[in-house]
Amino acid sequence: MRLILLGPPGAGKGTQASAIVKKYGIPHISTGDIFRVNIKMGTELGIKAKTYMDKGLLVPDELVISIVKDRLTEEDCKKGFLLDGFPRTLSQGEALDEELNDMGLKLNRVINIEVGKEVLIERAIGRRVCKDCGSTYHIKFSPPKQENICDNCGGQLFQREDDKVETIKQRIQVYLKQTKPLIDYYTKKGLILNVDALSQ
Ligand code: ADP
Ligand code: ZN
Repeated sequence: MRLILLGPPGAGKGTQASAIVKKYGIPHISTGDIFRVNIKMGTELGIKAKTYMDKGLLVPDELVISIVKDRLTEEDCKKGFLLDGFPRTLSQGEALDEELNDMGLKLNRVINIEVGKEVLIERAIGRRVCKDCGSTYHIKFSPPKQENICDNCGGQLFQREDDKVETIKQRIQVYLKQTKPLIDYYTKKGLILNVDALSQ
């Protein structure tokens, strides 16, 4: 199964993603997670990506595309994959098509999570992440059993820098302008499956 998960920031893509990869036994490829790991490790990629991420802007296409291309050639992707947070621009979508074409592969579906803007802001500002294992929580919709402590590993929870309200508004604007056109792109290919985030 080769899937893409599309949706605005704070739509709950992470939660959806966990359920989908479990169901199909495929690797979860999140470009946001790849960048965060690199930031934590202090790599050159991480240092570059952070300057964009902290401002709520997209990391330049040429950095993102090569990372995903490399990842798709790894052994575990033979079973398929779930791309989460990629593609995020039309040129990323086109580059992915080219790459899959070269590999002789086709996408099965693009799952598009739909959510209203007010809900997005509320979801994003309430989001908390475990500093040790990366599990995500929401102070209102899916709180941990103990405040600020990860259920999974006991780690401390924190708010991502790019989940602060001004950055979120910026990220939503970026989504509307740069990512939303992909819905049309994949609708024309007959691949879109719309999912209402609130029904989950
Ligand atoms: P969310 O889905 O909540 O926006 P992500 O974890 O997917 O968060 O991404 C966090 C940040 O990482 C984005 O705001 C952006 O700066 C960067 N990023 C992730 N994926 C991409 C991508 N495909 N292209 C450009 N930037 C990306
Ligand atoms: Zn944890």
